[in-house]
Amino acid sequence: MEKNLPSVYNPKEVEEKWYEYWERENLFYAEADSKKEPFTIVIPPPNVTGQLHMGHALNNTLQDIIIRAKRMQGYSALWLPGTDHAGIATEAKVKEQLAEEGFSKYDLGREKFLERVWAWKEKYGGTIIKQLKKLGSSCDWSRLRFTMDEGLSKAVREVFVRLYEKGLIYRGDYIVNWCPTCKTTLSDIEVEHEDETGKLYYVKYPLKDGSGHLMVATTRPETMLGDTAVAVNPEDERYRHLVGKTLILPVMGREIPIIADSYVDMEFGTGAVKVTPGHDPNDFEMGLRHDLPVINVMDENGHMNENAGKFAGLDRYECRKLILKELEEKGNLEKIEDLSHSVGHCYRCNTTVEPMVSKQWFVKMKPLAAPAIEVVKQGKVQFVPDRFTRIYLNWLENIRDWCISRQLWWGHRIPAWYCKDCGEMTVSREDITVCPKCGRTHIEQDQDVLDTWFSSALWPFSTLGWPDETEDLKYFYPTSVLVTAYDIIFFWVARMIFSAMEFMKQEPFKYVVITGLVRDALGRKMSKSLGNGIDPLEVIDKYGADTLRFTLSTGNAPGNDMRFYWEKVEASRNFANKIWNASRFVMMNLEGFKPGEVDIQALTLKDRWILKRINDITKEVTQALDKFEIGIAAQNIYDFFWSEFCDWYIEMAKIDLYGGDDLAKKRAQQVLYFVLERALKLLHPFMPFITEEIWQHLPHDGRSIMVSKWPEYDPAWDFTDAGDMEVVMDAVRGIRNIRAEMNVSPARKAKAVARVSDPFVMDILKNSTEIIHTLAKVEDMEFITQDSPAPHKALTYVIKGAEIFVPMEGLVDIETEIERLQKEHTNLEKEIDRVSKKLSNEGFLAKAPQDVVEKERQKEKDYRDMMEKVEQRLNMLKELK
Ligand SMILES: [Zn+2]
Ligand SMILES: [Zn+2]
Repeated sequence: MEKNLPSVYNPKEVEEKWYEYWERENLFYAEADSKKEPFTIVIPPPNVTGQLHMGHALNNTLQDIIIRAKRMQGYSALWLPGTDHAGIATEAKVKEQLAEEGFSKYDLGREKFLERVWAWKEKYGGTIIKQLKKLGSSCDWSRLRFTMDEGLSKAVREVFVRLYEKGLIYRGDYIVNWCPTCKTTLSDIEVEHEDETGKLYYVKYPLKDGSGHLMVATTRPETMLGDTAVAVNPEDERYRHLVGKTLILPVMGREIPIIADSYVDMEFGTGAVKVTPGHDPNDFEMGLRHDLPVINVMDENGHMNENAGKFAGLDRYECRKLILKELEEKGNLEKIEDLSHSVGHCYRCNTTVEPMVSKQWFVKMKPLAAPAIEVVKQGKVQFVPDRFTRIYLNWLENIRDWCISRQLWWGHRIPAWYCKDCGEMTVSREDITVCPKCGRTHIEQDQDVLDTWFSSALWPFSTLGWPDETEDLKYFYPTSVLVTAYDIIFFWVARMIFSAMEFMKQEPFKYVVITGLVRDALGRKMSKSLGNGIDPLEVIDKYGADTLRFTLSTGNAPGNDMRFYWEKVEASRNFANKIWNASRFVMMNLEGFKPGEVDIQALTLKDRWILKRINDITKEVTQALDKFEIGIAAQNIYDFFWSEFCDWYIEMAKIDLYGGDDLAKKRAQQVLYFVLERALKLLHPFMPFITEEIWQHLPHDGRSIMVSKWPEYDPAWDFTDAGDMEVVMDAVRGIRNIRAEMNVSPARKAKAVARVSDPFVMDILKNSTEIIHTLAKVEDMEFITQDSPAPHKALTYVIKGAEIFVPMEGLVDIETEIERLQKEHTNLEKEIDRVSKKLSNEGFLAKAPQDVVEKERQKEKDYRDMMEKVEQRLNMLKELK
């Protein structure tokens, strides 16, 4: 029955073997089983171009921990995987490939280019999936989805058409953020703002009637070519008499009006601002209010177009120089000031974003945002931690319309067709070839594709089969929890919520667990430029996935960033080894053992104590997992296993295993097996591989620990006297401390005397002398009453209800020990002297890096602490003399 484990744990071999086994046995598959309750997680779909980084590793480890625990708890637990087509990122990859061959995507044409992208996806798109498997992710791969697969594309069309028919999607002129390098629009959240030092140019605009001029200030003089007004604040006394008059736009010579608008800040610049509706979002709004014409002076490359007159064809910055030169020559440039201001950059390529007006598709957001705000306010969707609720609500309450068209080829092409003959536009679920108005066939589909987030916004229900009424959709929706990083709350989480409210009339998930960033040991963001990133696959390769997972679990609190460093990885690896070695020990001592009920009547105090502790831990771990406090759950099970089970119980159980009493041995085997098996199950979600390997070697029922029953708290194990064990452990600790302080050789047995004031404590200690003898290396334990004098030449340690004495006679050679300690004292004095001299040296303090100085300070403190201990010991010994 029981097989022995190899002496050394080899993660590589074990992990591969069990992952294959789980897949082969179809254990990740979740059935829409009406006898069970569903528990659903949809994976945040990684980009199909993705490589597993530490952020993925953290996020997916947490999801796997939650889903594995729920599966063991009897839910039909579905973790639905998939990937995102990632418009810009994927197109960029293939464009790079083409560039190496000397082509552009335009050389290939749309159709051929898309064939290349699909081929790329087939070849490389599975990489991230393989990496997720290495991590141990128990996703139901039979349900793997892709945002551009047939079903999801159908869902996208359906949503587009329905929103269009409801008037919630429209096409219009709009000012958008344009990246001249990526040649696409960017949504507001794809623009990164950075403070830059720029120039503020003061330009004189002459009045048409020759009565003087108005001075305006601008940071982007090239956009003045598209000015259609100058605005002042209606409250501004300086300019009130000028409102309604006409100016001559310098360089262009065009007539433009002076208008009054309360948007204008009287304090900024001169209080008069040029209005360029074609190239500034606020000016665009102002233009709408005053019915101003919109003049676009740039093309998609950020070059000046034909509306820029003689500057047509120039780059925007080149044009700026020439305009400034001309203004200066003509005396229109009054002055130039330095200005620190916030400038928008493309989040992908860092090019300065150019606001531009163009024809785009939009989703009208206000009506959609309202139910998404409501459902969170009602608590039907809860953010963990709660502080993210405010951020979410604030964004939705101030939301602008969502520009959903992108000037790319890879993505869901907008299902709108234009008739070149009669001008009719048709939005349709099916591709059309004939104009429904004039019946002719001279029609063309919209060139643009939808924003990638348009399809991922439907992820929680499109992946379950929507718009069809599938069994999966009925059973697994709404999903239970979403685990995601905070940087995509707006991009993704908010959009999933409003899409779900519109199309499912029900929230997409009940909890949104926010994960923080994984930072390096110094707390810096891991980045390519710093070269401080740690590759999770390298960690898996060196230490195994369980070690990586446990490292990412400990110290993890929802929403908080965490630090990742190798010492922490090594500590997790040591824990895996501890589990392995303890399990080997138990297994080697299970001969003749048959699992069965633990006989409560036969238990000793130590058994009742460890059984109560594993019972408590079961409750604590389960509760922490239910609250998504993964770090707390991991810490609880770690502390229990390492300290209480290994350091204490296993050591105490040896007495029964090797004592020659058959009944005692059988009892110890029962308890060891029972506690180990439970602990392995509680550990399984965190460290699935090692726990499976061990569990399979133990006597067990069933195919796998991953589908075994999760331990439950049982009030029958809540023994009231289990706390008495603490008294015994405290006595052992006391004797061990004294032995360590006095440098007693481990081979030497000590004598101990307990002077007891509490009769209950007397009973407890007397019943446990064997444990004290074994664990504290005591050969004789004597009990005396409170009124007895203290033993001669003994050190003491106080516990609750008793004093424990350890007589030093014959245990240490007091003279030699004093001598040794005095030497140590002299050495420490020298060290302290050296360090303090260094620390009072001004030169050193000025030149040495901060962390070096810090290290020296720490050294000084450590030496002083050691010195204090040495002095205490010396005093004790001198007293004994
Ligand atoms: Zn860009
Ligand atoms: Zn037509």
